[in-house]
Amino acid sequence: MLDPKPMTVATLYIVATPIGNLEDMTYRAVRILGEVDLIAAEDTRHSLRLLTHFGISKPLTSYFDHNQQLKGERILHALRQGKSVALISDAGTPCISDPGYQLVRDAVAEGIPVVPLPGACAAITALSASGLPTDTFTFAGFPPSRQGKRRTFISGMSALPGTLILYEAPHRLVDTLNDVQEVLGERQVIVARELTKMFEECIRGTVSEVIATVSQGVVRGEVVLLIAPGAVALQESEPLENVLGRLMAEGTFSLKDIAKQAALISGVSRSEAYGEALRLKNDINRD
Ligand code: SAM
Repeated sequence: MLDPKPMTVATLYIVATPIGNLEDMTYRAVRILGEVDLIAAEDTRHSLRLLTHFGISKPLTSYFDHNQQLKGERILHALRQGKSVALISDAGTPCISDPGYQLVRDAVAEGIPVVPLPGACAAITALSASGLPTDTFTFAGFPPSRQGKRRTFISGMSALPGTLILYEAPHRLVDTLNDVQEVLGERQVIVARELTKMFEECIRGTVSEVIATVSQGVVRGEVVLLIAPGAVALQESEPLENVLGRLMAEGTFSLKDIAKQAALISGVSRSEAYGEALRLKNDINRD
């Protein structure tokens, strides 16, 4: 399969790398990183370990939040001179809660080809296993660290349709969950922790159930927080029957849990959701 741009044309490659499990590196990422003239990395020492693992030896330069203006200009200079450059971050997809957006913007403005290499992204990885609606979602990155601003930030998302996806530091998780409960009410949430790694887990439940679980010990590692759509947002987009059908098709929850989750999502009572779930189940068994 040919690349959209041959390596002879100076190109900026945006290369996703694993979020924990090195087996998630793509063949194409290994090849392109081995072919470019320069690799721009968020943390060169961190990336050197990844590159060494895959037998890649290329000139490395740093590109991180606080040097991106100066380094961006140097990278653009290299591209103008006909060199090809790959941008990587410490983990996952560059530019997604990571440096890169300004560099891409400036390269595009100069007519320099920008080629994305897809791969791991914690937000999408978490969403794919969440069991929450995936047709519409909002990724909002890291919430502000101060409570006042965080509550305003969460409140601004209260009427958004679809699933909300946030990144959060483990030591702020409980505070953020408390604010979610305070501002958005008792929604279904999922804490996806240490994805693709040895201690990967998804903690699911209502926000108070999840707070109770994560408050039992110290949350370690990296986490993505997913929040189910609110009743108002979903009533319009996803009728009860659809929600029930989707949850039942997953085959991983009991009818009681399905009804509980569907009631939260669709804004109906648990008994109505349970009655409808029973009816659907009987219909399926009859067919
Ligand atoms: N660019 C990355 C991506 O594509 O996902 C995200 C970089 S951001 C600086 C780091 C945050 O992503 C972490 O604080 C955490 O919220 C999330 N994250 C990264 N790796 C993760 C993992 N293995 N499991 C859960 N969350 C992860």
